[in-house]
Order: sequence, then structure tokens, then C-alpha cells
Amino acid sequence: MQIHVLLLEPSRLYQQILGEMLSQQKDVKLTILEGGQAGIESTRQQHFDLICVSMHLADGSGIEFCEKARAIPELSSIPILLITSENNQETLGRALRAGATDILKKSEISAFDERMATLLPISSRTVGITGKVLLIEDDPDQAKALALALEHADFEVMITKSVEEALIGMETEGIDVVVADVLLGSGQTGIDFIRQLRSRTAWQTVPVMALSASKDERRRLMVLSSGAQDFMAKPVSNEELVIRLRNLLSTRRLFQQIERDRERLREMATTDALTGLYNRAFLVESAERRLSEARRHKQPVSLIIGDIDFFKKINDTHGHDKGDVVLRAVGKLLKTFFRDEDLPARFGGEEFVILLNHCSLEHAQRKAESLRQTISDLKPGDLTVTMSLGVTERSGDSESFDQLFKRADDALYKAKHGGRNQVVAG
Ligand code: GH3
Ligand code: MG
Ligand code: MG
Ligand code: MG
Repeated sequence: MQIHVLLLEPSRLYQQILGEMLSQQKDVKLTILEGGQAGIESTRQQHFDLICVSMHLADGSGIEFCEKARAIPELSSIPILLITSENNQETLGRALRAGATDILKKSEISAFDERMATLLPISSRTVGITGKVLLIEDDPDQAKALALALEHADFEVMITKSVEEALIGMETEGIDVVVADVLLGSGQTGIDFIRQLRSRTAWQTVPVMALSASKDERRRLMVLSSGAQDFMAKPVSNEELVIRLRNLLSTRRLFQQIERDRERLREMATTDALTGLYNRAFLVESAERRLSEARRHKQPVSLIIGDIDFFKKINDTHGHDKGDVVLRAVGKLLKTFFRDEDLPARFGGEEFVILLNHCSLEHAQRKAESLRQTISDLKPGDLTVTMSLGVTERSGDSESFDQLFKRADDALYKAKHGGRNQVVAG
């Protein structure tokens, strides 16, 4: 769609600057005049989508032009952007009262395209937030008209006619926003739909725009309190609907970004960067909870501590990087060797701890022995690596994680002194 812009600007320099900026926009037709009177006359001959007017015109001021233009019924709602180097608040206020839609300071001239774009009809803008809209509207003509307007603004639209259809529609991949008519056929309401939507965790944050012909304030309040983010009375302005939907979407995207960031921080706080195993802080924090759960369910809990043998020598002989290769390989092995609920963790350096739920000492010992064997066969980075392990089972309900840990650590100490590459139970 071509946009026709009228520029009223007596200065050759600004004619050139603004003209060049506009010519970079696609589909802009530009008419340049120097005076306000000539401007008014040209609007009688042709339609403009936007008028950009300078504060100083060949025959008066931009403010006078705004006043004259607004007095003409056909020009009462055309966007007017006043361009000025004026900083006086009083003058700027006067310009807005005279009918300027927006003011652009000459010092902000580089933002001209951007500011101009906000004044143009939505349909002529090339960029904007879009997404997949689920539309619930029982009147086929209204549905078609809304869908057309939304598609024009680059939204993808899926039309549904009833609550059931809409709920099925929600299963479609990637619905970003819902536009719901409040009164649907056969006694259903959009509110029924919103309630069902809000009861499903995965759909709780999908924004809903409710539409209703009803001017009844009670109903509007009910719609909003049932969980719709926004409400518009029919007949809706398509342009306003698009802007409101974009606002809903950008707010939602912001929240999604925050959620992703939080998830990443949570992960960083609980995992060890080198191996991807849980870190010490997470293990310690989770352990007490696990222990009290086990106490409640009268289940045994065991702990394994494994420490790589002569690891310092690996670093000293082959370099720290090679040491890291070994640690990563052992970490990867532990991840597959134990269930996630066993909380396999890198406790520090070359020391690993695994808390085994529902696991007796005998079982834990077998598991540790099998791990010892697997590691000695692993040959990470082509090196022979062995591990010493201490194993223990919680004795008595009152034993804390620290006490459990201490006993497993004592057993590990014995394994080291007994010649390493072995499992000792304590
Ligand atoms: P032992 O058999 O008695 O356990 O001897 P060891 O050499 O394995 O034990 P020691 O505690 O003396 O040395 C552990 C070494 O682990 C020392 C430290 O530099 C190294 N280390 C700790 N963290 C890392 C790491 O992230 N990467 C690498 N490459 N080395 C690490
Ligand atoms: Mg050591
Ligand atoms: Mg060691
Ligand atoms: Mg150690």
C-alpha cells in the first residue's frame, strides 16, 4: 500500500534531509510545499496519510497550520507531525492543543522514520509484533472481517465458533493470543472458555482479548475478572485491536524472556559447569529434604563418595586441560550410571557424591563396585583412571546428612589407605 506524505518545509536543507529519509521507506509518495496555505489547498485536491509540518513556514507558523487544518472536517483526524527546534514547553503545549498529533524535535531528527511510523495506519507499517491468533466468534461474517484485518497486520488467524472448537484449537502449536467473542451461540460465553483456559497450566499465560457488543459494565467487569487481559466493545476499530494485541504480545514475550532467564539462573545455581552434574550447594540443600522424606516413608538411604585416585598426578603429567577431560568423562558416566533422583553431584575438585534413595547398604555397595569397575575400564583421554569409593547407609532416623557424609568419608579414607581403586563400606 502506498502512503502519501505531505511535507511542509521552507528550508531546502531540511527538505533534502527529510526527503531522503522518506525516500528510503518503501512505498512512500512525498509532496513537498513551503507554505501552510499551499498545504491546505493541496489537501483539497488529494488524500494524504500524514502531514509533516515545520514550525516555521513561508507564510506563518506550524501551529497556525494545525489550527486551520483541524477546522476542516476532512482533516480533523489526519496525523500531523510538527517538526521544530523549539524547546519552550509552553509553545510545544500550544502546538499539541492546536492539533499536532506529535512533535519531533530537530535534535531527534534521526528518529524521524520511527516516529512517523507510529503515526501511520497500522496496515501501512511493515514491521510489528505478530503471532498466531485463535479467534472465537460465532458470527461468520464478523469472524471473516476480523480475520482479514488481523491477517492484513501479518497475524496468522485460526477461526473457531464454539468453546469446544476453541479448546481443540488451543492444542495447535504456538497459539500466541486469543481473541474471544463474549456471547457465543447456544448459550455459551467466552467467559466459559477463559475459565477453562486458565485452568490449564500450559495455557495460563496466553493473553485473551475479549470482544462484546454489550455495553453492560457488569459483564465487562466479569470478563476482565475471569482472566481476560483486555476488553473491547463491538464494533471494534481494527487498528486499535491490532495495537492492543501487539501490546499484549510484547508484554507476554517480556515475561517469557524473564522466565527463560530465571530458568537459566536456576540451572547455573544448581549445576556444576564443567560436568553438568548437580553442584555441592544443590546436593546439600536437597539432601535434608530427601532424608526426611525417606524417614516418613521408612525407606533406606545410602551415600556414595568417590574420589579419583592420584588425580593431581594426571594434572601434573598431562596438563590441567587433560584433567578436565577426565572430570567431564567421569561426570558424563555418573549421569547415565545413576538416576537423576539419586542426585549425582560433583562435590568439589575430583570428588563426587551420590545420594541413593530407597537403597540399602548392600545395594549401594554393589552399585559402587560396578561404578569402580566401569571407571577403571573407561580410559578417558586414553588414560587409565581409577576411583576410590566410600559407601554407607543411614543408620537410624535421626542421622543428619553431615553425619552420613562423615561416615562415607571415613570409609573413603580407608579405601585410599587400603591401596586405592577399591570400595569400602562404613
Ligand atoms: P588421592 O588419590 O589421594 O585422591 O590423590 P589426588 O591427587 O587425587 O588428590 P589431591 O586432593 O591431592 O589432588 C586433587 C587435585 O585435583 C588437585 C587439584 O588441582 C585438582 N583439581 C581440582 N579441581 C580441578 C578441576 O576443575 N580441573 C582440574 N583439571 N583439576 C582440578
Ligand atoms: Mg584427595
Ligand atoms: Mg583424588
Ligand atoms: Mg579429593
